[in-house]
Amino acid sequence: MSETLLRNPIRPTVDFERDGVQHGYLRLPYSRDDSAWGAVMIPVTVVKNGSGPTALFTGGNHGDEYEGPLALSKLASSLDPKAVAGRVIIVPFMNAPAVWAGTRTSPIDQGNLNRSFPGRPDGTVTQKIADYFQRSLLPMADLVLDIHSGGKTLDFLPFAACHVLPDKAQQARCEAGMRAFCAPYCMRMLEQDAQGLYDTAAEALGKVFVTTELGGGGSISARTLAIAERGVRNLLVHFELLDGEIESAESVMLDMPDGDCYVCSESDGLLELCKDLGEPVQAGELLARVHDARGTGVGPVDYHARRSGLLAARHFPGRVQIGDTLAVIAEVVR
Ligand code: ZN
Repeated sequence: MSETLLRNPIRPTVDFERDGVQHGYLRLPYSRDDSAWGAVMIPVTVVKNGSGPTALFTGGNHGDEYEGPLALSKLASSLDPKAVAGRVIIVPFMNAPAVWAGTRTSPIDQGNLNRSFPGRPDGTVTQKIADYFQRSLLPMADLVLDIHSGGKTLDFLPFAACHVLPDKAQQARCEAGMRAFCAPYCMRMLEQDAQGLYDTAAEALGKVFVTTELGGGGSISARTLAIAERGVRNLLVHFELLDGEIESAESVMLDMPDGDCYVCSESDGLLELCKDLGEPVQAGELLARVHDARGTGVGPVDYHARRSGLLAARHFPGRVQIGDTLAVIAEVVR
């Protein structure tokens, strides 16, 4: 138990209690060959005006997802403290070393930040970042938004999401936030493994937590960036941190009721996906074929949908490995 008493080595260069705008860093000491007394400098912006709720907005939890980093760095540069009632803490590049490398995980320790919670103050660089969010930033927050996309290996319909929670009042607050984001789709998301997620950490602390999957493929489009920018402003308005009107948009409600939503590859090869994102799928229908690239005259391995719905996510690269998630089918809630 003594490890929980250790102090996290990260020191912020901003004062979270000060009114106005501050652009600074979360300074994480990191001694290495090219900088003996060096540090990982994670950018942070605090915009505060008087008392009121605190929003904690993050992007770059995975380093190859770009809607969050771009929308939030633009928000950090433009948010006027006079228009804010409360405090907005913005960390656009949460796992900064991964963002700088353009990879999902950290090049320093291969840490996947979104599998590292609650983290360790005496652990790897990635575990120290998780511990700082777990014990310093999350406790300050009332509303937590973590913007994800598919990264290099997945592509998603653009959706805001929340989880099914044991506390139904908390779930209702999360769902209201998800809807206020006004993404083209809203998803009641089922995680394959919720252990170690930032989501789970924030929800266990009773926070209003909203996440997203806004696209993918390791790049960004004008459309998905616009969805992210509209969403962050809408959330601030919804929680009365920012004056103004919610910019509303049509949103389709989706659900992932069980594990049959996931289609997993049991073979290696080249992916022939038979549906595009957003297309309807019937249970039993041919969804994907994986072709052997090591020989000819061998038939593909076929994958059929185990439930009806629409294609909400897909494996992005043309090459598939055994164990990859090929597709996710979500049910439309009418
Ligand atoms: Zn992600």
